[in-house]
Amino acid sequence: MFNVPLQFDLDLIRRYDRSGPRYTSYPSADRFLSNFPQAKAEAALANSNPVRDLSLYFHVPFCETLCFYCGCHRVPTRKRARGTAYVDVLVAELELVSAHLKRARHVRQLHLGGGTPTFLSDEDLARLMVETRRRFDIGADAQCGIEIDPRSVDAGRIAHLAEIGFNRLSMGVQDFDPEVQKAVNRVQSEQQTMEALAAARRAGFRSISVDLIYGLPYQDVARFATTLDKIVSSNPDRIAVYNYAHMPDRFPAQAAMPAEALPSPDTKLAILQHTIESLTAAGYVYIGMDHFARADDELALALQDGTLQRNFQGYSTHGDCDMLGFGVSSIGFVGDTFLQNLKGIDAWEQAVRAGQLPVQRGYVLSDDDRRCGYVIQELMCRGEVDASAFRRRFGEGFWEYFGHTRPALEQLAGDGLISLSPNGIQVMPRGRMLIRHVAMVFDSHLAHNRVAQYSKVI
Ligand code: SF4
Repeated sequence: MFNVPLQFDLDLIRRYDRSGPRYTSYPSADRFLSNFPQAKAEAALANSNPVRDLSLYFHVPFCETLCFYCGCHRVPTRKRARGTAYVDVLVAELELVSAHLKRARHVRQLHLGGGTPTFLSDEDLARLMVETRRRFDIGADAQCGIEIDPRSVDAGRIAHLAEIGFNRLSMGVQDFDPEVQKAVNRVQSEQQTMEALAAARRAGFRSISVDLIYGLPYQDVARFATTLDKIVSSNPDRIAVYNYAHMPDRFPAQAAMPAEALPSPDTKLAILQHTIESLTAAGYVYIGMDHFARADDELALALQDGTLQRNFQGYSTHGDCDMLGFGVSSIGFVGDTFLQNLKGIDAWEQAVRAGQLPVQRGYVLSDDDRRCGYVIQELMCRGEVDASAFRRRFGEGFWEYFGHTRPALEQLAGDGLISLSPNGIQVMPRGRMLIRHVAMVFDSHLAHNRVAQYSKVI
């Protein structure tokens, strides 16, 4: 269990300001292999544990306008009919994938992400939920989440989302400051956001999450604090505060922002420090990486009782499920196999229409991946590695297997990020913000890899 508080050590964070994976999977998705064989993808589904619960993810790539900072897989369009055609293919993909499974499986988690899932009409969203229920057993206890864009919904649409079964909702806000909004091409009034939040409460959503971003043009501590105060006063259950990574070579739209207005690394750190202090003072619990939650939220409770998991959607309470991804670019994880769909809409549709799983990339875990992935998950979700638990699980000693990591770990221990003992590793308060650095020691793929392509750790 994560039983150490968070300590923000500015000097240490500056010293460790390097790039690294976010570990929403291990290995990270850039290690997946291209042209993954269809037969292997089919076998992963056919041989999967028939009684294991499922987590379903649907990717809806469409956005009416493009926010310049965004690194998601998205398709700009205003043609609503594209949404209806897309749902047609999603339904065909549901049929195809469910036919490969041995039986209708119980779903504990379902999530629609994007892009902008609320680009889809009410009718198409309802149709998607009905068709999913026809093929999977979505229990009354299932967590059904959707990302909404407050600019594309009103109170009626939000009530409709609750009616068709969604009980969790997250919304992008990023920053209320008009100058920042203009610079990033996302003009979204405070009123739109607050009305969406109030409508979600009235509709009975069990968990409401707000996304903010720091590091955008024209932001400074005072401006960001103004946004943060307003969001805190609206009392969402969860707040995610993402670090904007400026990588215009990878995401060309980012070049449209005024680079000279980007805050300096020191300003970004000051914003982050103020954010952490404000949110913890307001009663939010630091979950890890960019995530904060109210003390009575499921994520905070899972952190406390040691059941927190990390997956493609960030932190989760349901990591022990097979994950099925639907739609372009979505990623699934079944048994010990990662499967990532084709990214182009036409190619994805052609594969589905031809009765082929629309998988482009994939990866089957090796024995070493299982061990490294387990340790990284333990560090990121529980803040410790218990050597006895490792032995029970893998039948060999933790320090025997990972003896080669000792010099790097001792350096981290010397800086106060972790403490080492014969029975494993404990993350210390100064290490919580730098948890990715600890995890990276156990990443076998990094040894022969380029870290520069990843975002900065802070
Ligand atoms: S931030 Fe959301 S709405 Fe904006 S471009 Fe990215 S996916 Fe679309």
